[in-house]
Amino acid sequence: MKPIVQSRKLQGVRYDVRGPILVEAQRLEAEGHKILKLNIGNTAPFGFAAPEAILADMVHNLPDAQGYSDSRGIYSARTAVAQYYQSKGLKDTVVDDVFIGNGVSELISMVLTAFIDDGNEILVPAPDYPLWTGAVTLAGGTPVHYLCDEDNDWNPDLADIEAKITPNTHALVIINPNNPTGAVYSEGIVRGMVDIARRHNLVVMADEIYEKIIFDDAVHHHAATFCADDVLCLTFSGLSKAYRVCGYRAGWVMISGPKHMATDFLEGLTLLANMRMCANVPAQHAIQTALGGYQSINELIVPGGRFYEQIKLASKLLNDIPGVSCVEPKGALYCFPCLDPEVYPIADDQEFVIDLLRAKKILVTHGTGFNWPTPDHFRLVTLPGVEVLTEAIDRIAGFLETRRVA
Ligand code: PLP
Repeated sequence: MKPIVQSRKLQGVRYDVRGPILVEAQRLEAEGHKILKLNIGNTAPFGFAAPEAILADMVHNLPDAQGYSDSRGIYSARTAVAQYYQSKGLKDTVVDDVFIGNGVSELISMVLTAFIDDGNEILVPAPDYPLWTGAVTLAGGTPVHYLCDEDNDWNPDLADIEAKITPNTHALVIINPNNPTGAVYSEGIVRGMVDIARRHNLVVMADEIYEKIIFDDAVHHHAATFCADDVLCLTFSGLSKAYRVCGYRAGWVMISGPKHMATDFLEGLTLLANMRMCANVPAQHAIQTALGGYQSINELIVPGGRFYEQIKLASKLLNDIPGVSCVEPKGALYCFPCLDPEVYPIADDQEFVIDLLRAKKILVTHGTGFNWPTPDHFRLVTLPGVEVLTEAIDRIAGFLETRRVA
C-alpha cells in the first residue's frame, strides 16, 4: 500500500498554538513532567466557571435539544444576537442576519470557504489569531499581512493596509480587541480601517470575540457601526471567552451593511451551514440567557477582578525582565512581549519556545506562530491566578538569563 498523505490543500496551512510545541509538551507529560500550559486561552482549567444561569438554562433545555436545529441556529439565539447588535445602534439587524456556529472558529472557516475564490487576497493583521491566516489559505486564498504597530499600542498601520491593497484584494480582517497583542483599537483607527474598505470595495470581517474583555478606560468600537449601508460587514463573536464556556462551542456571525448585494454569498454560506446540519444545540440555548442576563464578566475586568489583576501583573513582571518590553494590553487575555534581539538573539522562536518548555516546563507560543514576521516575541496566556503567574514569569526570567548576551 502506498503511504497515505495529507491533501495538497493543507500545504502552507499552520496553526502553531497547538502545533509542534504542544506535541513536545505532551511528550514531556507522558514522561511524567507537569507542564504549565500557557499557550491557549481556555478559561476552565484555570478555575473560571460559567455563569450559573447559563448552566441552568442548558440543563433545563437539554430534553428539547436532542434534534438538529435550523442550520442557521435556533430562533431564540439568533433573535438575541440580532437584538444585541440593535442595542449597539445597528437598528436594521434582523434574525436572518445571524448564523450560529460551533464557536467562532467554525464560522470563520465557513465564511471564508463561501467567500474566497482561488488566489483572492485577504488582508489579515500581523500578528493575527492564526486561524485567520490558516483558514484563508485552506479556502484557496492568499493571506496578505498588514502590520500592527507596536510603537503605537499595537494599532494597525493604516498606511501599510492601504499599501498592500491590489486589484485582487477582497476583504479586510479586523481583530479587535486583538489576540495576541491585547490592543483595543481607537475609534479613529476603526473608522480609518472601515474607510479603507469603503474606498476599495472590500468586505470587512470583524472578529470581536474579546469585545467585553477590556480594561481601564478602553472603549470597544464595533466595526459594523461605521460600515453604514455601503460596506458589507461580518461581525464574529461568541460565548467562549466573556462567558467562560470555550468548550460549549457557541459563536455567531452577524451580517450588516448592504446585505442585498450579498444574496449570492449568503446562499453559499447557507449551503455550507446546511451541509453541517447545525451547531451544537444545547449550547445554542445558552446564547439568549448569556446576552440578556447579568454580565458577570464585568466583575473580572475591573481592579480586584481576576482578568484585570492577572494581566496587569503579567505585563508588569514581564517589563521588569531586562531586555523584555511588553505593551500593556488594553483587552483580551494575553501578553505579547518583545525580546530585544540585541539582548536575546533568537534565530528560530519555535525552537526557543521548545527550549523554554524543556528547561522550565512552561508552554508559551512563539510570535511567528501568530504570523509576526520576526522571531522576537512570544505570547503568554494570563489566565493562572497571581501566584502561579508570578512563579511562571519568574521561571521564564530565569530561562532568559541563560540566553542573555548583553
Ligand atoms: N477569534 C479569536 C481572536 C480568538 O482568540 C479565538 C480563540 O482563542 C477564536 C476566534 C475562536 O473562538 P471560538 O472558541 O468561539 O471558536
